[in-house]
Formats: sequence, C-alpha cells, structure tokens
Amino acid sequence: MDLEGICKELYILGCEIRKDEYLKNHTSFRIGGKTPYMFFPKTKNVFVETLILLKRNNIPFKIIGGGTNLIVTDYDVDFVVLSTKYLTGIKEEFLSDRQKLLVETECGVYLASLSYLVSERGYSGLEFACGIPGTVGGALYMNAGAYDGEIKNIVLEAEVFDLSDMKVKKFRNEELEFSYRKSIFQDSPLILLSSKQVFNKGNVYEIKRKIEEFSSKRLNKQPIEMPCAGSIFKRPKPDFYVGTAIESLGLKGYSIGDAQISSKHAGFIINKGNATFNQVMALIDYVKKTIKEKYQVDLTVEPEIWK
Ligand SMILES: Cc1cc2nc3c(=O)[nH]c(=O)nc-3n(C[C@H](O)[C@H](O)[C@H](O)COP(=O)(O)OP(=O)(O)OC[C@H]3O[C@@H](n4cnc5c(N)ncnc54)[C@H](O)[C@@H]3O)c2cc1C
Repeated sequence: MDLEGICKELYILGCEIRKDEYLKNHTSFRIGGKTPYMFFPKTKNVFVETLILLKRNNIPFKIIGGGTNLIVTDYDVDFVVLSTKYLTGIKEEFLSDRQKLLVETECGVYLASLSYLVSERGYSGLEFACGIPGTVGGALYMNAGAYDGEIKNIVLEAEVFDLSDMKVKKFRNEELEFSYRKSIFQDSPLILLSSKQVFNKGNVYEIKRKIEEFSSKRLNKQPIEMPCAGSIFKRPKPDFYVGTAIESLGLKGYSIGDAQISSKHAGFIINKGNATFNQVMALIDYVKKTIKEKYQVDLTVEPEIWK
C-alpha cells in the first residue's frame, strides 16, 4: 500500500492527518522543514494501527511527543511523523490503604501535568519533573531527569509496541535499561504506548516547597522563555558541568547567525528568531572543538538530531 492508501485507511479510523506539515510548528526550537504527512492518532489502538500500517509498507517514520528534545533539519524530510498529542489518557489507583498512588499514563501525557497531578494529591516522587517540558513518552525515551531525580525512579512498567514482531508487550522497570539520559527505547524497535508510575504518600507542604524551589531555580537560570531544546550537551562525567565550562571560555552570548549560546545558561543554545539547523550545528561543533582543546573532554549532543 502506498502513502495515499495508508492515509485513506487512517482517515476512516478517525486519525487526524496533515499533509506537508512544517515540523518547526511542533518543536520547541522552532526549527524544522516539511514532512510529507503528519499523523495524529486519537486513541492508543489507532496509534498501534498506524505503526502497523507504516511498518508493513516500509514507510520511514518517526515519533514526536512534545518536540522539546529535538534538533530537526530545516530541509524537507522524507519520513512521515506520528504525533502522540492526543494520547493523554490517565488512570489513577490508590494502593496500600492510600499510602501509594499508581498512575497509568498514555505516552502523550505531559510530564509536568503528571507532576502537578501527583503532587496535588499529596504524593511524592515527581517534584523534580515539574518544569521538564515534553511528554511521558519522550521522558522514558531519554530517562529525563533534573535535581537528582530521574524518570527511572518512578516507572513501574511500560506497555510497548514491538515493531520487530508487531506485538504489544509489557516491560518491567529493570527491563527498560535506564541509565543517564538513556533507555532501551533509543536502541530498539520499541515504541512506548503507556506506562505505570508509582508514588509514595508525602508531606504536602514539603512537596509544594520543593516544586516552588525547583520552579524558581529553573526560571532564574534557564532561558525557558526562548525557543530551545533544553541542555544541548549531556554531562560527560559526574563532576563536569558543561554550562560552567562553556561559560569559562567566555562563550555566553556567542552567536552564529540567530543561533546563540544563552547568556542566561551557557549549556543552552537558543533560537533568537530565524536560526537555521546549520547554524545550530555549526555552533555545537564550535563549542565541542573549543571544550576539547581547553579541557580534553568530548561532548555529546543530548537532543535527537533528525535530518
Ligand atoms: C526549556 C527546556 C528545559 C528542559 N529541561 C530538561 C530537564 O531538566 N531534564 C531533562 O531530562 N530534559 C529536559 N529537557 C529536554 C526534554 O524536555 C526532555 O528530554 C523530554 O523528556 C522530551 O520529551 P518530548 O515529549 O518533548 O520528546 P520529543 O522531543 O518529542 O522526542 C524525543 C525522543 O523521544 C522519542 N519519543 C517520544 N515519544 C515516544 C514514544 N511514545 N515512544 C518511543 N519514543 C518516543 C522521539 O521519537 C524522540 O526520539 C528540556 C527541554 C527544554 C526545551
């Protein structure tokens, strides 16, 4: 079946379909060329149907959640994109005489919304994520983390679709191979459908205090008001702070075109308006080279690069 045929099938299933969609409208960096088709399945079943149709017909595709950890070429791409935007189902269950809260989320739920929901109920464990943009799907993919918290600490199990045998499977936390900004999803044909997270009852005032502290730290230190993709480099070793190292080279505010090293936090590259993919990549290469010369450290890029 060709793409037109797939579109017809998915249209009947109620999937939203957009032709020639600019990916810059779906990334926090506000950079990204046109994809021939973008699919927005409205239910988990239709999401699975879409995956099956694309895989069976050898159509190259990528999954997008919040688009907050992506650097996308501004040339037109030859792959189609599946958005998890509508997969926002949430189920809650109290356990152990309400001492624990189990929350099952579809992959398109925003991590920050989940953090607020859990915290408002008086359960602890997701305060660290109150300001991390993006979805649960992207968070499991990256093992997102902040302020000594990581998604791996709260995930109980994941429901995944395995593209290699086209089956839905359950993976326990230990099977998801979480490590620093890494999970099994990065090197396997697994797509996250939903996941279960468990939280312990906590002290409401302490939870609120932590959320306020983390939010104001983020507001003061990160350029969250500007288009960007979060930290541009992974921390290469526990005691090496990339932002501080880049700042020590006098590179805060350094620009190539409209791509600029944030003057608020040197670990972020911001798009001042019309930054291109090539400008961002040139700035990344320049920082990598300069850090290598000064500190003999190899930096790796954290966001996924789509080109
Ligand atoms: C201002 C700002 C601050 C940030 N702060 C932090 C921070 O403190 N800590 C941190 O860890 N990150 C941070 N990030 C990066 C980013 O928000 C996180 O990595 C987030 O978890 C990405 O989620 P997303 O839904 O946006 O993923 P996307 O950018 O949409 O996708 C990222 C990857 O996940 C894959 N993916 C998405 N959904 C699925 C799915 N259902 N199944 C399989 N693969 C999937 C995509 O294909 C892609 O490869 C920040 C970003 C910004 C812009």
